[in-house]
Parts: sequence; structure tokens; C-alpha cells
Amino acid sequence: MSSAPSRTSRIAVAGFSLESNAFAPTTERSEFESLFLVEGEALGKLIDDGSILGFGTRLRELRPVEMVPTLVAVGGAGGPCDADFYEEALARTCQLLREASPLDGLLVFAHGAATSTKVDDLDGHYLAALRETVGPGVPIVAELDLHANVSRRMVDSADILVGFRTNPHVDVRERSEECAELLHEMLGGMKPAVAFRKLPMVLPSVVQLTGAGKPLGDLVLHAESQMGGSIANVSILSGFAFSDVADCGLGVVVTARGDAEAAERLADELTERAWNDRGRYRLSLTSVDDAIAALAAARPGEPWILADVADNPGGGGRGNTIWLLQALVEAGIEDVALGLFHDPELVSRAKAAGEGATLDVDFNASVEDPLSGRFSAEARVTSLCSGGFTPRHGMLRGVPLDLGDCARLEVAGVSLAVSSVRQQLSAPAFFEHFGIDPARMRALAIKSRGHFRAGFAHLVPDERILEVDAPGLTTPNLSRVDWKKLPRPCFPLDPETTWEATSR
Ligand SMILES: [Zn+2]
Repeated sequence: MSSAPSRTSRIAVAGFSLESNAFAPTTERSEFESLFLVEGEALGKLIDDGSILGFGTRLRELRPVEMVPTLVAVGGAGGPCDADFYEEALARTCQLLREASPLDGLLVFAHGAATSTKVDDLDGHYLAALRETVGPGVPIVAELDLHANVSRRMVDSADILVGFRTNPHVDVRERSEECAELLHEMLGGMKPAVAFRKLPMVLPSVVQLTGAGKPLGDLVLHAESQMGGSIANVSILSGFAFSDVADCGLGVVVTARGDAEAAERLADELTERAWNDRGRYRLSLTSVDDAIAALAAARPGEPWILADVADNPGGGGRGNTIWLLQALVEAGIEDVALGLFHDPELVSRAKAAGEGATLDVDFNASVEDPLSGRFSAEARVTSLCSGGFTPRHGMLRGVPLDLGDCARLEVAGVSLAVSSVRQQLSAPAFFEHFGIDPARMRALAIKSRGHFRAGFAHLVPDERILEVDAPGLTTPNLSRVDWKKLPRPCFPLDPETTWEATSR
């Protein structure tokens, strides 16, 4: 490690993050505005006080630094980004970078599975444009989501890519601190040598957990154990199938400190290990009927979780499918909470009717997507709420959230948490916001693919969690999807897929 330099370095920060589901409606500017779209001085404040990411706070501990904020846009998960908005955001970012030159480095927050209505590899396009703007001599270190569909263009445009190593993603800040540390090393003369591999493995999201004993967890742990010495970073990017692009598939990016041969060797070893382990990435979905039957053994106060993994807003799902609600109501199961159900119109109706009112609700009457389903039921408005709250558990622990106007409806024995903002339910606080105590329930039906696990671990053990195989935009049952651009054959969709370890 180099000794602390005396000259102040000018380090820019830029970001564009969206997880694009090709089957979901276009993600418009308004979705970014409602989540995070901040530039200039306002962004600088958040970087300086450490409210977002760990780029600024960590770098400042390492060297005299002047952070140069440009523009960061975060759209969560949805359909391909509206191309006009993306191009405008990119042009503004590049303009701010040019105005800020000369720069000593650039730290980037990207996702790696973004597309626009015009570009399939948005992240590659974005990083290439940033590279062109700052020039070849300015180090670029970019943080990516574990679900990135890494492309050759992304690898070639940045100096170093650092992927999250946890799923649920609880290491976002740690990884941005690691980006800052690697940039600091590069400013001290470290020359990264990067090896990149892709495998024809397009994994459903639910088998990409990194907990103990999970195949991806074991791979990431092994990768982590190889870091140190000549290996600066190993990132296993397990991909996001629903982007439905040619770059889908598990990627391995190894960054060595100058030693290209070490990077190549380790990348080979890791891809071979991942491929040989592929049989362990097994789905264990429960049918809706079996999930309902399992609840016969459930008691209030020892809740089960039915994970509605196919309608995960965190993967572009609309948060409005009715399959679990309908099954619970028809089976007459009581003391169940279901959330988040995204339906701003229904919230407005509930608000107009007032607390205590009874409504005849035709769920999804104006929704065209048949995957959402339709269902009619009588619902009582139990309570209305609005304003913010801050989860104490899980991935968004400590992060202030606002779901807009909300309503709690009782539909037979189900407490339905209906929100105006489409968001993945990831912690008990989401239910508590509606006046529901999740610990007292018999079952919690949660629209989330897996991030809820970090938030509910203290309340519900793994053996009381069922991943339910209902229809939806984010179904882990990949054979249900009409793929257009996915590279075929790929495992596990095409079980006969082969791969040669020597394909460097
Ligand atoms: Zn992710």
C-alpha cells in the first residue's frame, strides 16, 4: 500500500442503476424521480455525509480528496428504461464530468442488468460513454449489483468492476468502500489486470441466495478466500434472466494487482467450479394448493411466509397479482397479512370511502396483463396511512422509506397492505406501517423474491418459508417465459447445455 499522498485528488462520482425486466412496462423518468435522481451540490452533500454509498467517507480516510458529484439516477427494478430519459441523464452526466475536468478518478454506481428501449447493454454503453468523456488515463472503478449481466464492453470500459457479494444485498456500502480503496491503490500506481469469463448458466433469482450452504454462497466464499496478495478483487455476477439479452448468464471478473496470469488462472478455476456445481442450483417451489394446505399446521404467533416470488417488485413485478390472495380467501384462512399490493387507484377509493367503509373491489379490473389476474371480493377499509417509516431490519435497515398514500383492507381473513408506491416488502416495518403486527399472524404472504429473508430472519425460520409457484412477471420457473434474446442453450433451461473449460 502506498503512503498517504499530500496532493488533493479530484474524484468524480456518477451512477445509473436499473434492473431491467424485458417483460415489464417501460421505466419512465418518474420512477427514477420517485426513488433517486440527484445531481450536483445536492448529491455532493449526500456523498460527503455518507448518506449514500461509502465512496466519499472511505476515500477521505485514505487520502486528501475533493469529491466531484455529477449525477446519480436509481430506478430500482422495472421494464427497459425510456431511451430518451437515459440519453438525457447520460448527456448531463458527461457534461458535468467535462466541466469538472481535470479529474484524477471516477467512481461509478451501476447495476449491470439495465437495458433501455434502444440499448440492450445499457451499462456497457454508459461506462463506455463515461470512459470516452474522462479519457483513457483516468481510473474508473464501478460497483455493480450481484445480478449484473456483465458484458465485455463493461469490463473493457472500466478499470475495475466490484460486484456485491451478498444476496439479499446487505454489503452495498462495504462494496462501495472497497471501490474507494481500489481507486486509492490505483492512484498510488497499482495497475489492474482483469480476467473475465461467462458461463451458459442463466439462473432463476431464487437459487442465487448467498447464505451458508447455498451453492452461490459457497462459490462467493471461495472467491473471497482467494482475495489478497496479487488478487485485488473477485466478483461473481450471477445475472438477471429477465433482462432477456445476449449478455445474460453468470459472469466471473477477477482483478489482479498487475499479475495477468494470476487473474486468468483464478478466473478459469472459478468458472470450472461454478459449472461443475451446477446441479446444486435446484428450484424447490411449492404449488399454490400445497402452500395453502401447509398453512393448516400454522398457528397465530408462529407465522409462516408464503413468498410470492413471481410477483417481486424488486425484479420488475407489478406487485398486483391476485393468485395468493384469491387462494387464501377461498380457503378461508384467517390471520394472514399480504403485502405489498400495489394499486394507487384502490388506495384513492379507500381514502374517499373512509375508514370502516366496505367496498366491492374488482382487483385489476383495468389491468391488461393476464399474469396479474382478476378477482372480485368485498373489502373493509380498516385503516388509512401515509408518511414515512424506517425499517429496523434487513436490506433497507435505517433507510427512510415512503410508500405514498396507503390503505389496509380486510378481505375475508386477509389483511391486505395496499400501497401507492410499488416496492418490494423486505422487513416487518412494512407491515407495521399499516398497523399490522407480523409476529402475531398465522401467515405472511410477501411479494418478494428473497430480499425479505434478511428482514424476517429473526421472526421466521427458513423451514417455515415457502416459495410459491404462482404466475407472475418474475417467475423462477423459467420455462414459463417466452424468451426472445436469451443465449441458448443455457443451463438450467436447456439441461443438455455443454461448456468447455478451455474456452478462454
Ligand atoms: Zn440484485
